[in-house]
Amino acid sequence: MADLQSVLDDVAREAIEATDRGAVANYIPELAKVDPGRFGIAVALPDGQVHCAGDAQMAFSIQSVSKVFTLTMALGKHGDNMWSRVGREPSGNPFNSIVQLEQEQGRPRNPFINAGAIAVADLILSGHQPREAIGEILRFIRDLADDGSITIDERVARSETAHGDRNASLAHFMKSFGCIDHPVDHVLGVYFHQCAIAMSCRQLARAGLYLAGEGRDPASGAQVITSQRARRINAIMLMCGHYDGSGEFAYRVGLPGKSGVGGGILAIAPGKASIAAWSPGLDAAGNSKLGSTALEHLTRRMGWSVFGS
Ligand code: GLU
Repeated sequence: MADLQSVLDDVAREAIEATDRGAVANYIPELAKVDPGRFGIAVALPDGQVHCAGDAQMAFSIQSVSKVFTLTMALGKHGDNMWSRVGREPSGNPFNSIVQLEQEQGRPRNPFINAGAIAVADLILSGHQPREAIGEILRFIRDLADDGSITIDERVARSETAHGDRNASLAHFMKSFGCIDHPVDHVLGVYFHQCAIAMSCRQLARAGLYLAGEGRDPASGAQVITSQRARRINAIMLMCGHYDGSGEFAYRVGLPGKSGVGGGILAIAPGKASIAAWSPGLDAAGNSKLGSTALEHLTRRMGWSVFGS
């Protein structure tokens, strides 16, 4: 097997030199300020070691990558009952699409499109004030990453709140079908703040390790979720983690993964590694352009695709 650190150094070099970097998301103005020249990658191994290259220590807005962690929490809190609120099928539509919601009576296709993640935020809110739910999400992620310094970027949360008409439409539409229990502004408050959590590739790779370890954080020994749930979250990441680019990501990279419009991707090589890549420029489907390419090269050279080496 290739030497992991030298593979990471190679993919980082290629990414830093690349000229076609995609376009930084600009519908959340605060995200548009991020330097498109950045690239980072980190790989956390079952023994807790983390290998890094490029800007792997620089915090970025995790955006929709947070949906993996809130799904884990909602499953812990509501068990399989949560599937009455949200499906498990790929949408084949953009991340913020509203079209299927009408046909499917307000039950979003999966927990990773915006509508689905808003429904999950509503489930996490039950029994809590928004501030407590946000605190619970942040604490969960800090525990997973074993790093109490992780914070929410309030400027990003405010920027998205000020430009959140599409997400507000999705939430109101679901509420009109009786699929949201709490006031829409409370649910959106939780959702926008989870998206505004800032993490580095190193922290994100470490936080995802439980999904590579059958639900158990191999570094701390904590059983975060059952092995069956970890397997199922990985399945949903593979099928739905990159919106209408999920098929392309499975084809090129061959790993469960979840992207965010901040340019981050968390990818899981079950039993082998948790990987975080970040480059702010996005492709047409809203997924990190160089992040996907770096993961494609990394998995090929390491033989980590779930479909075989
Ligand atoms: N906060 C973003 C939104 O709701 C998340 C989208 C993403 O990262 O794909 O628009």
